[in-house]
Amino acid sequence: MAASLVFRLHDRGPEVVREVLLERGWEEYDQEKRKEEDWNLYWRGSAFRNSEYHNLLPWQRLNHHPKTVGITRKDCLARNLRRMRATFGSALYDFSPTAFILPNDYTRFLSEYNKLRLTRGPSAFWICKPVDLSRGRGIFIFEDIKDLVYDSCVIVQRYVSNPLLISGYKFDLRIYACVKSFHPLTVYIHQEGLVRFATEKYNLSSLHNLYAHLTNTSINKFGPFYKTEKERVGQGCKWTMSKFRHFLHSLDINELLLWQRINSIVTLTLLTIAPSVPSCPNCVELFGFDILIDVKFKPWLLEVNYSPALTLDCQADITVKKGLIGDLIDLMNYTLIDSLREKAYQRQGYTQRYFHANYPSHVSIPVLSKFKESKYQKQRTGRQALPLITTVEKMNQRQSRQHAFVADYQRHLPHVDLNETYASSGGIVDTTANKTCTDRKTLNLTLGPHSRTKVSVVNRQPCPALAPWLADNRSPHVSEVTDHDKTEIEAETEPGRDTDVSSWIRDIPHRGLGFRRSKLPNIYSGSQRPVKMERTAALNGQRIPPLRVGEFIRTFPFNSATLRASQHELDVKIVIQELHRVTAQLATSGRKLRREQEEVKKDGEDDFDSLLWGPKEPPLLSQFFKTT
Ligand code: ADP
Repeated sequence: MAASLVFRLHDRGPEVVREVLLERGWEEYDQEKRKEEDWNLYWRGSAFRNSEYHNLLPWQRLNHHPKTVGITRKDCLARNLRRMRATFGSALYDFSPTAFILPNDYTRFLSEYNKLRLTRGPSAFWICKPVDLSRGRGIFIFEDIKDLVYDSCVIVQRYVSNPLLISGYKFDLRIYACVKSFHPLTVYIHQEGLVRFATEKYNLSSLHNLYAHLTNTSINKFGPFYKTEKERVGQGCKWTMSKFRHFLHSLDINELLLWQRINSIVTLTLLTIAPSVPSCPNCVELFGFDILIDVKFKPWLLEVNYSPALTLDCQADITVKKGLIGDLIDLMNYTLIDSLREKAYQRQGYTQRYFHANYPSHVSIPVLSKFKESKYQKQRTGRQALPLITTVEKMNQRQSRQHAFVADYQRHLPHVDLNETYASSGGIVDTTANKTCTDRKTLNLTLGPHSRTKVSVVNRQPCPALAPWLADNRSPHVSEVTDHDKTEIEAETEPGRDTDVSSWIRDIPHRGLGFRRSKLPNIYSGSQRPVKMERTAALNGQRIPPLRVGEFIRTFPFNSATLRASQHELDVKIVIQELHRVTAQLATSGRKLRREQEEVKKDGEDDFDSLLWGPKEPPLLSQFFKTT
């Protein structure tokens, strides 16, 4: 029986998400046909309610982490960056233009305004933005305080009046950063992003001309010159990041340093909220960071977008956003969870016991509340439900004692194997499943035929690593519960072997609980290439997230020190030190990376690799440091 994955889109959008998922063989959620909980991914442009996080089932994922407003609302971002500046120094947190939240900060703004007027004359410019609006709405630029008029909460920010221009046009960069997890902090930045242009030439004497000063597509696509072929910029108002890289090559600058500074901005910004975001292993977040580069090649953070626009307005959008969503889905590493959903729907009780049993006691279990009061349990008889919880508690106690050392990375969704082997047998290893895995019958694949993921996935796992107890015939080890990264298996399967995940999960008779079984073909069954098994990358027992998934480059953790610093409570100080070190080294080490020397890893050497995010073919950080 083949498995399918189900996505649910709030308010019918975004279309590109639907398109990418349907292309990959996912099925769209249909409330007429499916139960309320019968989906794998729920995608919303707006925030989820608290109850939606609390009621998450193990196979369900959301495209937002809770409580990230601290960086995505303009006033919160300004406040948080101010706090970080006070704690870690303004030299480090100097990447965002000084901002004041009005009306509260009016007096402070006034004193800064007057100070600047004294020192610089009237040539200091400001930009006023409503805190809760987006797409350039309500924004204006002013020089004289008498032009500052507002009737809602706004931020007034120093206007970066010397932006880098391309043929006289202002532009900014839309950088896509994916926070795969806040605990431990795991961040990927996409190599492809967008360059967004203003459509009229930059001119400080016409501050009211938004087509010259704002780079929002939503504004510029209505401008009179949007369709005009503009010098070097071309038609429309967007480039891909690849095209921008070509442009950078033509300039004699330390490109690596520029990328690293942008990378640091993303990390430093995320650090402002990372410790306060609740752990939710079932969530992922795609942020859009807007970065403006000035004439001195200093990148400035303008804002962080909560739900970056995914509309397809032009060819650059299609190239970038389709690839981005495809890579995001690969990064979420979905395949095996699907089977879990389907199996759970057939064998309800096991899901509850399974998930309790396999999370270490110190880990918050987002599904707990659901299980206590779940619809499923209400459908069961009281006689069945009670012993189940008792058993779960006992198992939890026993296993938490045995496995208190489980690394934080393992908080992620567990692997489906255990459901079949442990839960179905009441704690006794299921030899059928065991045999299936030791036979190396192919798992369903993480990365399908549509996947753009290439190599460099350090954490790809062989079958035994996914469920090691299956391979070595010992009792199941709760500590071996895998995170998603552990299932990063290349989209390949041995020729002639079954690619269908359901083939290695025993088919259980449908118990007639009214849940629909999918008739869709296996989403990744097209691939006939052999599975490439790679060893697990781990450091001191802590799993290292994959280095690269498609065009997503892991930017945090980026070395063994930051991996350690994010292991338990995030040690922001250490992270900052390390960022500082890498950036300083890039700043002093010249413009070009010498790559003649191939990295040869010696036995016992630090197993941690990181790619330098930004350049077209990102080199390894370690390579960079060795050769300079
Ligand atoms: P919105 O959420 O409405 O898009 P942004 O903060 O992104 O608000 O601002 C919109 C645009 O205004 C940016 O894309 C950029 O072109 C311009 N902009 C915003 N802040 C500044 C600034 N401090 N200096 C220069 N340009 C800015």
